[in-house]
Amino acid sequence: MSAYTINAFEFCRLAESATGTTPVAELPRLCADVHDNKGELTWSFQGGRHSEGLAQLSLAVSGEVSLVCQRCLTPFNQSINAHSRLVLVADEEQAEEVEQRLDDENLDVIVGSAVMDLLVLVEDEALLSLPLSPRHDVCPKGAQAVGDSKRESPFAVLKKLKE
Ligand SMILES: [Zn+2]
Repeated sequence: MSAYTINAFEFCRLAESATGTTPVAELPRLCADVHDNKGELTWSFQGGRHSEGLAQLSLAVSGEVSLVCQRCLTPFNQSINAHSRLVLVADEEQAEEVEQRLDDENLDVIVGSAVMDLLVLVEDEALLSLPLSPRHDVCPKGAQAVGDSKRESPFAVLKKLKE
């Protein structure tokens, strides 16, 4: 548990906010996916309410990490600039029901808790914002860039991975 553990429902009810900067080196799952542990992520959370009265957490993560290009195998800096709106519910059953009812691809429904670690959410957001097949727009040797295919909602991808 990190110093950034919150009661997510209270955080939203009281419309609290939190910001911070965390070195990539302190995020082990992210470290495993990047070329080196240099750099840091700046993040912010804002608690609030969805129009239906549900707890809603807005999250922004930005920074830069080093990835290895899959085409020329040299490292390059990848900017992270990710935003999410998370609707918090009590359990998986409610998550499914709310997700279907809201049917809003701009937000993700997750199970909240009284002991949520903000850094876990930051790390998830950063990981899911990384390209599946990292590569330079234009490799230093001058190879042609290949267009990225459309990405799914990061939390939808995460959910599939957990299933
Ligand atoms: Zn390259």
